[in-house]
Amino acid sequence: MRNALGLMLASLVAAVVIAGVWSWTSSPRAEIAAPQTIAARKPEPLPPAARPAAKDDVQVTASLTKPAPAPAPVTPVQQKPACANPNALGVARTVVIDTSGGPGFGFEHFKQLDFLGDKEVVLTFDDGPWPNNTAAVLKALADECTKGLFFSVGKHATYHPEILRQVLAAGHTVGTHTFSHVNLNNKKMTEQQVKDELEKGFSAVKMALGQPPAPFFRFPQLQHNAAAMAYLGTRNVAMFSTDLDSFDFRSSNTDQIINTVMTKVDKLGKGIILMHDFQKLTGEALPTLLARLKAGGYKVVHMKAKTPFDTLPEYDAMMVKNQKLPQISSRPVGAVVQTVTD
Ligand SMILES: [Zn+2]
Repeated sequence: MRNALGLMLASLVAAVVIAGVWSWTSSPRAEIAAPQTIAARKPEPLPPAARPAAKDDVQVTASLTKPAPAPAPVTPVQQKPACANPNALGVARTVVIDTSGGPGFGFEHFKQLDFLGDKEVVLTFDDGPWPNNTAAVLKALADECTKGLFFSVGKHATYHPEILRQVLAAGHTVGTHTFSHVNLNNKKMTEQQVKDELEKGFSAVKMALGQPPAPFFRFPQLQHNAAAMAYLGTRNVAMFSTDLDSFDFRSSNTDQIINTVMTKVDKLGKGIILMHDFQKLTGEALPTLLARLKAGGYKVVHMKAKTPFDTLPEYDAMMVKNQKLPQISSRPVGAVVQTVTD
């Protein structure tokens, strides 16, 4: 009996030892197996639905280990390129224009829409793009971190598309000013010729920019033609006259331009200012003029269009056809020219 009991006890001890050994050897194996499973799963691309869950898991893990510090605030201001000039004139406000039906701006001819507040001005530039002169205007505006509205002549846009693209890239608004800067109020102009000048102007600027311009238009010499205005209304184009003309095109020096603008704006208290990026003196006068506007407490309003101009396909095709050299291939330069040796 004692022997039998001893045998039973020995068997029990042996069973416990074996179970312990099995448990000791199997536990580490299980622990190793777990990371292997994760490692094997990692290279698999997660289906889209699984991604948020995986992200949530990471966040939960982080919150369990220790209270996560609040992430550094990222404000939209920090993401934008900062204005290097702390005393810049800047842009006080940006307005978006619904051009439906062809609204008119500029009190010299259009008096319905009085949207500028006291001391607010809009900077406008006609007749470009033009070598050197447009660049001087762009630099002066960039130095003051401010924005303007450019009325491009279609023909000039076909001569210097790269300059007009710089205007757009700098964040300014681009409208048009006919194709060849003709007086649309000339009695010899037929209705068809007037339409062609307007539509070709928009299509030429579109071709230069690689995208449609704003449906903003200014009549050359501010010569408004009733039939042309009615047509522009049907095309949902806003028409721009001016509140004050700088007369930069007939000024003999920069002081004259600056004094003309400041005298008029001080009298009116606000307004759409007409200038020309086509004129050399304008770019030269602009740094001082902008500084004077800032010192006088004036604020710049940037005008944008709600929707781009919808060009007519036949005029777009005409512009492509009228380019100086025929455009046989539209393949990008990288597909045509390849460097084989440096
Ligand atoms: Zn003009």
